[in-house]
Amino acid sequence: MFDLTGKVAIVTGGNGGIGLGMARGLAGAGARVVVAARNAKKSAAAVRELGSGALAIEVDVSDESSVKALMRDAVAQCGRLDILVNNAGINIRKPPHALSLAEWRQVIDTNLTSAYLCSHAAHPQLQRSGGGKIINIGSMMSIFGAAYAPAYAASKGGIVQFTKACAAAWAADNIQVNAILPGWIDTDLTRNARDQVAGLHDSVLRRTPAARWGVIDDFRGIAVFLAGAASPFITGAAITVDGGYSIQG
Ligand code: NDP
Repeated sequence: MFDLTGKVAIVTGGNGGIGLGMARGLAGAGARVVVAARNAKKSAAAVRELGSGALAIEVDVSDESSVKALMRDAVAQCGRLDILVNNAGINIRKPPHALSLAEWRQVIDTNLTSAYLCSHAAHPQLQRSGGGKIINIGSMMSIFGAAYAPAYAASKGGIVQFTKACAAAWAADNIQVNAILPGWIDTDLTRNARDQVAGLHDSVLRRTPAARWGVIDDFRGIAVFLAGAASPFITGAAITVDGGYSIQG
């Protein structure tokens, strides 16, 4: 039920942070993982660590032709596609009145339009495989807002609704589409946040019943679960992985 031998997975942003955590889970369960990100050096290190035939393909997920090339090259090198993880993401921390249109577009394109581009390009390949799995990464900002994250919150709210639309559209193709909503996880992204948002580190600890920040290996299990035969009737869901952060105010 948790064996992914013979399956091919693309993980955008799989060269670090939560993406690497999920890639570790998928590779550990036997999948061949395509690490899809911009930084070739970081991706090469991830591929070395993952083993199991993992490979790196450079991509800018906000660019349509780059995403099309990713899909073409992944299928040319691996022969098929079964799993897509739309994980790549960024944040620009400013209140709405200080955020420029270019910054708004950069965040929306990287976090939300990317999921459309990758899913759209992956769909025919998943159909060809007889079905598949798409895992989109939302956030606590899919649920809550924050003064310093207008574009980020809009993109992550959008991810949940996009997940539901794709789940409904592609159920007949035996493609299950789900979202994971991480709580506060220790990665490069949140190391910056802790520098920029006063008191963030302690307020997360106070609010999280598990009384710790998440680590990237907290995402190994959920990735395997949503990517394989254990979750055939779960689709359109948004599953929190947050140590309980979202269950209490
Ligand atoms: P990291 O900064 O560690 O990782 C972000 C990843 O995205 C990197 O691998 C980066 O690779 C990749 N990436 C960014 N822009 C692009 C692009 N244009 N094209 C291709 N790849 C890109 O952050 P996290 O691991 O924390 O974040 C991963 C996801 O989890 C994001 O969607 C984030 O919003 C979400 N998330 C994180 C939380 C946290 O607490 N950490 C909480 C909730 C959600 P490269 O630079 O090589 O391109």
